[in-house]
Amino acid sequence: MDQEPYLIKDAGVSPRQIRMARVVIAVLLLSAAIATPLATTPLLPIPGYMSAFGIAMIVVNIILASLLFAQGLIEGKERTIRLGTAYFFVTVIFVPLIAAFPGGLMEASIIGSTSSAVWLWCCWHTGFGLLIIRYATSSVEVAGTTASVRKSIVACVVVVVLLTLAATLGLPYLPEVFRNGRNFFDDSTMLVPALVFGVNVIALLCVMRMREEKPEQLWVMVGMFAACIDVWLTLYGGARFSLGWYFAKMTSLFTSLAVLISQLYGITRLYHSIAGANKILMTQANQDGLTALSNRRCFDQVLEIEWNRARRDKRSLALLMIDVDHFKKYNDCYGHLAGDDCLRQIAQQLLRVINRPGDVAARYGGEEFVVILPNTDTAGARLVGERLLVNLTAASIPHAHNQPLCHVTLSIGVSAMVPGPGGSTTALALAADKALYEAKESGRNQVCIARHESFASAVTPAFLMS
Ligand code: GH3
Ligand code: MG
Ligand code: MG
Repeated sequence: MDQEPYLIKDAGVSPRQIRMARVVIAVLLLSAAIATPLATTPLLPIPGYMSAFGIAMIVVNIILASLLFAQGLIEGKERTIRLGTAYFFVTVIFVPLIAAFPGGLMEASIIGSTSSAVWLWCCWHTGFGLLIIRYATSSVEVAGTTASVRKSIVACVVVVVLLTLAATLGLPYLPEVFRNGRNFFDDSTMLVPALVFGVNVIALLCVMRMREEKPEQLWVMVGMFAACIDVWLTLYGGARFSLGWYFAKMTSLFTSLAVLISQLYGITRLYHSIAGANKILMTQANQDGLTALSNRRCFDQVLEIEWNRARRDKRSLALLMIDVDHFKKYNDCYGHLAGDDCLRQIAQQLLRVINRPGDVAARYGGEEFVVILPNTDTAGARLVGERLLVNLTAASIPHAHNQPLCHVTLSIGVSAMVPGPGGSTTALALAADKALYEAKESGRNQVCIARHESFASAVTPAFLMS
């Protein structure tokens, strides 16, 4: 049996997730194979497509980076922070990228020219690929700190500013990597596209070689398949609004979405586990482990609540204090395990005699029980106590050292009052305790009633007199 069901364990990668990832990879590869020969086919330009895509990329990647940074800090794992850095880099580089892209935010490029957008695109994919390689090859042991998150954020911003300057002001010094209307592979400067694609393929291989099995790694791997297809189709499609170009944008978004969805799924599962564990803890916090009745803590809380309710409604609140007779001798004679079992049987009998929704039976401690009876006067409470004694007599649990009856019996102190000025739960409990003491003194196996100016009277139930 699970000793600590409230402990939340790391779920790991389920076979279902692996199956799903395989299907997604198969679909990605198949669609890439179909799209490649058609990649250069020009399609109708969709106005606003690039700005919608850019904004979606910024939003998805910033959410993902924040989740991964937070997770890395909570778990103290630098590796997760490094993964967050890769997606944060994408977020930051997308700002100059859509600004440079003609039709990204405005008709013409806001900064630089079309070639600036192409260079920034190359920087995005190379940088992202390199950051994924850095993530995949880092040790699990390195502890993640707030300082490393801060450093990563600053580094991303500084690098993107430098890259933007290079792709705009430094454009005259860079080779031309793109001739509109032709795909990259027609060009003599094959080195740049080959480098971008190569880095992404290496990143994919590095993620595939990772040892530790975590859902995040599985989906980063799926995302890297999408990233490679994205780079491939963009290079192949060449021009804006070609089929390859449109398709590549979808796979770009999918690279981050796959990981984001897996993160959200993980969080939902965690929330589900926490809710379940919380329920168990709440029950355990209020329940007595041996008898499954309410425990002392719960009793104290309920008594306070019922006392206040009775005071507001000007109704009587009754309390029964119950103690097993000669229970030490029972343990000595039958052993503690039998003693525990006896306490469980008494608890069952207790539950049988309280019927109203507000009634609460609790284990007060040791072999002592208490019953709270809201809206009940002395006569009603005595009736409940007597019914318990009758039922226990009928159950006839053997107790050789409880003479003369030789079965388990109880002594019960009853106290009931309408809460008024000067009264308190302590006074109610003390009166019941005093009545219990009177019941013991008067020969046990009986109910004794407390009358509130501190006198108690023993009442011998009718069935015992016969
Ligand atoms: P009296 O009739 O005066 O109440 O006598 P008693 O022997 O019941 O009273 P006492 O308070 O001296 O002994 C209570 C005993 O209850 C002591 C201990 O052996 C037993 N006890 C307390 N808690 C547990 C428990 O959780 N399990 C078991 N088996 N025994 C318990
Ligand atoms: Mg006792
Ligand atoms: Mg006792």
